[in-house]
Amino acid sequence: NRKPIVIANWKLNGGLDLICMSLASFIGKQFDGTIAICPPYIYMRDMMAFLKFSELLIGSQNVSRFESGAYTGETSAQMLKEAGCSLCLIGHSERRAMFNESNEGCCIKVATALNHNLLPVLCIGESQAEKDAGKTSAVLSSQLTQGLANIALKGRDLCIAYEPVWAIGTGLSASPERAQHVHEIIRNELTSLFGIADAERIRIVYGGSVNKGNTAQLLQQKDIDGLLVGGASLDTEHFLAICQQA
Ligand code: 13P
Repeated sequence: NRKPIVIANWKLNGGLDLICMSLASFIGKQFDGTIAICPPYIYMRDMMAFLKFSELLIGSQNVSRFESGAYTGETSAQMLKEAGCSLCLIGHSERRAMFNESNEGCCIKVATALNHNLLPVLCIGESQAEKDAGKTSAVLSSQLTQGLANIALKGRDLCIAYEPVWAIGTGLSASPERAQHVHEIIRNELTSLFGIADAERIRIVYGGSVNKGNTAQLLQQKDIDGLLVGGASLDTEHFLAICQQA
């Protein structure tokens, strides 16, 4: 009974031409699942202008941990909400690796997003070296316990994105069986953090070399409640083919 969600993460890609193409293809289409696009901040408002003709949601790729003040280059949760944003990615592995984002920082961002009624999509995942060393469960467990420390949901929604770092942009997706196995571990961890009722409500989406060919099998898994799509989301027809399977 968890409605699937498919989220496009455009990363530092796309421009007005991609926006026009995407929105033109999505207008008037109906989907069983929820579809969201996370473009670079600068394009959010352009996309909003089209949104009344589609069911698409807009998300951000990041959010500031701060509310306001002298923090050059930051964008707050309140500003995102005001711009019409519905969700925000938090702690994507690229931000953790290249912009020094920590679990503790992610936790503050999750709290901030919840306070402003943005759906936080907390991204977690192990590296190739951690996987090889048999540390997948331990890594995910600390990302969840530290990234969600002292978070009280109070009926609000949360989404977890499992993105194994070794599967991002490599063409080597986790197998549906492995992804399901890891998602089950994640749901057990969420059960100890929030209790069974909340843990059953939280959507856990998979990301890492998702394409139209592996979408159906991934989504068939019991604990895979959606997808976070990078490269394939930049090709409008390809992304549409993924969304139509959700
Ligand atoms: P790819 O789909 O290109 O592997 O990227 C996944 C990702 O990082 C989405 O956030």
